[in-house]
Parts: sequence; structure tokens; C-alpha cells
Amino acid sequence: MSQCVRVAEKAFDYRVPLVVIGAGAAGLVAALSAHEAGEEVLVLERDPLPRGSTALSAGLIPAAATRWQNAAGIVDTAELFAGDILRKAHGEPDAVIVDHVARSAGPVLEWLADRHGLNFSVIEDFSYPGHSARRMHGLASRSGEELIDALRAAAETCEIPVICDAHVTTLFADDTDRVLGLAFARPDGSIEEIGCDRLILACNGYGGNRALVAQHIPSLSDATYFGHAGNQGDALLWGQALGAATRHLNGHQGHGSVAHPAGILISWATITEGGFQVNIRGERFSNEAKGYSEQAAEVLKQPEGIAWSVFDARIAGITRQFEDFRRAEAMGAVVTAESPADLAARINVPEDGLVSTCAQVEACKRGEASDPFARDFSGSQPLAAPFCAVRVTGALFHTQGGLVIDTRARVLRPDGSALPNLYAAGGAACGVSGNDASGYLSGNGLLTAVTLGRTAGAAKINGDE
Ligand SMILES: Cc1cc2nc3c(=O)[nH]c(=O)nc-3n(C[C@H](O)[C@H](O)[C@H](O)COP(=O)(O)OP(=O)(O)OC[C@H]3O[C@@H](n4cnc5c(N)ncnc54)[C@H](O)[C@@H]3O)c2cc1C
Repeated sequence: MSQCVRVAEKAFDYRVPLVVIGAGAAGLVAALSAHEAGEEVLVLERDPLPRGSTALSAGLIPAAATRWQNAAGIVDTAELFAGDILRKAHGEPDAVIVDHVARSAGPVLEWLADRHGLNFSVIEDFSYPGHSARRMHGLASRSGEELIDALRAAAETCEIPVICDAHVTTLFADDTDRVLGLAFARPDGSIEEIGCDRLILACNGYGGNRALVAQHIPSLSDATYFGHAGNQGDALLWGQALGAATRHLNGHQGHGSVAHPAGILISWATITEGGFQVNIRGERFSNEAKGYSEQAAEVLKQPEGIAWSVFDARIAGITRQFEDFRRAEAMGAVVTAESPADLAARINVPEDGLVSTCAQVEACKRGEASDPFARDFSGSQPLAAPFCAVRVTGALFHTQGGLVIDTRARVLRPDGSALPNLYAAGGAACGVSGNDASGYLSGNGLLTAVTLGRTAGAAKINGDE
């Protein structure tokens, strides 16, 4: 249970200039950034090994005007990127923060590549909803596990101390809201204390805390949480105890394409490349192209909270670049058949329903019918045999609301003043997705993890503290 204890002063046996709580993408990037700036930094992680939601993710980070895009002939700018973020989030996020993260992302990825050997490439063969350029960058396996392992290896190379099995429970702060230090619990129940000059909260949001999800995101209070269970909302609770402003606490990323019961993320390329979703009656129920985040609630509203994603072998070929998809195939979660009627029989949905839905979608693609859900199918290739289907459900991936920060990642009070020495990055900070699921543009999660991590880590060299 996290708590904030007020003390006039406190002596610690051990002090470090900077402590980072959490060794996900935000925390490790912050630590690398601070180390480069010459600040002594210590990372505390509650788990035995740094993983976090970062390890569960597809590891894809959007960035504009990168050298990888240039090499692929993709024209993009930070302005275009910022416009996409704001459009998807209905203009709700702070435009100054959006501008900051959109501008920072490219340089941060190039820094991670040049300085720390992360070998990014850009996804060239499909588009994510809401992005007006192909700008998703990932490591070779397109998995977050590879990303977190590469960041951890970089921290090891820099000899940055990362103490695992260190569950931070308590912040000590004086009456000016300055954090003096913290206490963390070890697996054997012992408690250790450390003093610090500044603190970066990189312990993500509150997706793993049922009570906070029910309070702030009631539409997904019963949904499966697909993110890291250890993300219990500690940053939010500590920030609130210190008088920080919070924003967009209903904001979140859902996902309408988690293979069920396999529990594996199925890339949304299955849909954007011309696939669609039906319920167990074989009927479509929404405009899937709006985005996978808002689709979580749509799928959960269907009978049994289930849908089938229907696509074809060509699309499966594109999606196979994701390790998760290959795993789903190996587990038998991807059903194939030579015709829509055979597919209906194999997935046990009414043949009439699925066959007529397939015909309707193909008519929309040919421009001979208009979609009742207003999805724009123009430019989508027709599906061809063999056809594929995966049984999916909707899930909560991570929360997007959090502590209000400025462009130096300093945590702010409601009056706009900065707390003396508290910073937040990644899911601990209010993101750029606005106040509901529909505002989440693909990649907003790791975008704010790496860019705000970089900013928070470099804050000392940039003049803070
Ligand atoms: C299945 C899935 C797929 C996703 N795919 C993508 C994607 O492709 N692109 C994208 O941009 N986003 C994606 N996301 C979202 C992305 O994973 C997160 O936004 C991002 O990883 C957040 O990084 P973080 O460093 O803030 O948090 P995390 O990676 O979760 O790290 C937080 C760390 O803090 C630790 N911690 C928590 N509390 C404490 C405490 N009290 N003391 C010590 N340590 C603590 C945790 O154990 C954890 O290791 C996905 C999410 C999921 C669940």
C-alpha cells in the first residue's frame, strides 16, 4: 500500500542524487538519460526482473521524420504527427505537451540507436488507424520483450544500478512538498530507506488496481486487464498526496483484438488491411476502422463479450512479422478455411450470417454498397481464400490519465506551479490521449514513456534542481 509521510526533516543512511521508481521503458530511458547528463541515478523496481507493461507490448514507438522513414521514402513531420495525436484525442490533450513528444520522438529513437545500439526499423507495410504516415518503429521481433531487454542491457553497460525486488511503498516529503527520500520493501519483508535530491515516477498508471479502474474507468471495470499487474496506481496516489494536479483519469488504451482464450494480442493489421469483426451471430457490429482502443468496449458489448476477427492469408502474411501472431498460430488460435461458408462451420457461427457479412463487406470494397457502420473500405483489397479467423475479446491495456506535467516532465500543482523535485514519465504522467478510449492513437503509450523518460532524465542538465 503506497503512502506519503510528511516529515520536517529526515536523515538517511544512504543518499543518491536521483531515484527512478520503475524499470519499464520510461524508467530505463530516464536513467540512461540522467547517466549521460552526469547525474548519479538509482532505479528501483518491484519485480525480480525489469519487465513492466513494456515487456507485454508490441514495442512499437511512433516517431516522425526519422532516418528510417527517410530511407524508406516516407514523408513525415513532427507537425503532422502532433496533428494526428490531437485529432484522435478530439483536441483534449495539452497541445504544448503533444508538440513536445511529437518533436522529441525521432531524436530519442535515433539516440537510443546511436548511443545504445537499439536497432530500430520502421513498419512499412501497413498503416495504423489515425496515423497519416507510416511511423511505427520497432526492434526486429516487434516485441516489447526485446525492447525492455535492450534497454536493460544498455543500463547494464552504463553500470547504472537497478535494484530489483524493491517495492517502493512510502515517500517522505517536507511541508514544501519536496520529496526527501523513500522506503521500499524487500521480498523478505524488510524495509530499506534512501534519500534523494530528485525523484522520477516511472511506475506507470493504475490499470492493475481494480478499485481505481472502477472509480475512473467504469466502462471497463469488469474487463480483463492485459497490462502489468504491478502497476497499482502508486504514482497517482503519491502525486495526489503531494497536491499534484491530475487529468484525464478516464483516458485509457483498450484493445478489441486479444485472442481468447489464448490471451495473445492479435495485431490490428488484421483489420486495417481489409479484415473485419463479427459477433457470434456472424454479424458486424461497429466501424472497426475507428481504432482498436475504443473497439474493446464494442467487443465486450457483444454476446459473451466475444468477436471473431476475419481476414485472409495475405493479411496473415503481413501480421506474421509479429512474434505474438506467430505464437497465436502455433497455439492453433488462427482458424483457416477455403470459403466463408467453411469458415462459418469451423468457427461455429451461423453460415448465413457470416456469408452475407463477407459479401456485404466485399461489395463495400468494390464501391457497390455503403457500409451501415460508415467504415470507409475504399482502397481495401478483397479477401481471398484461404480465409482466417481468430476469436477475440476486449481488454484494458493501460491507463492514460495521470499526473499533470510540463515539458520538463516536472509534476505540476493545480495552480501550474511545479512541485520542488518530482518528475513523472510514461504511464505515471497524464498522456496525450484525452479522456476516453477513443482518444488513444496507436503508440501513445511508449511515445510518452520514451520521450518523457528522456526529458525527465535530462532535467538536471536542462537547469532544474
Ligand atoms: C499488450 C500490450 C501491448 C501494447 N503495445 C504497445 C505498443 O506497441 N506501442 C505502445 O506505444 N504502447 C503499447 N502498449 C502500452 C505500453 O506498454 C505502455 O504504455 C508502456 O510500456 C508504459 O511504460 P512505463 O515505463 O510507463 O510502464 P511499465 O513498462 O509498466 O513499467 C513500470 C514499472 O514500474 C514498476 N513499479 C510499479 N510500481 C512500483 C513500485 N511501487 N515500486 C517499484 N516499482 C514499481 C513495475 O513493476 C514496472 O516494471 C501496450 C500495452 C499492452 C498491455
